[in-house]
Amino acid sequence: MALTQQARNQYETSLRQRQQELEQGLTHTVKQALASAPEETQDIGDQAVFSYQKEMLFTQGSRHHAQLSQVRKALQRIADGSFGLCLHCSSPIGSKRLQALPWTSSCIDCQERLEKGEREGNIGGIYDTPADA
Ligand SMILES: [Zn+2]
Repeated sequence: MALTQQARNQYETSLRQRQQELEQGLTHTVKQALASAPEETQDIGDQAVFSYQKEMLFTQGSRHHAQLSQVRKALQRIADGSFGLCLHCSSPIGSKRLQALPWTSSCIDCQERLEKGEREGNIGGIYDTPADA
């Protein structure tokens, strides 16, 4: 375990903060989507605007959701002591990378490999299915 207790506490604090932001963001997105429901009287132009907005909200919402699940998993890894280690090769993840992306589950090498789609086997990628799916 390369991380000190202090470092772990710091990551945990920033992850919890992020989790809260994302949860609030999701609630806000849903409210916005509901509030912008189209009315019968809308003309074609308004409908086009609405479906564009809906698409934007949906994209935003699913991105938030994906990150929220990553943040939750990172908090789980803090709890079980595996935080800071790459899920794929078990190497310690660089502290700069962890500070920038505390919810990341892979080291920079594995991340690059995953992005290039060169990974072998199926050990779960950076875009894991949400835990609550
Ligand atoms: Zn790795």
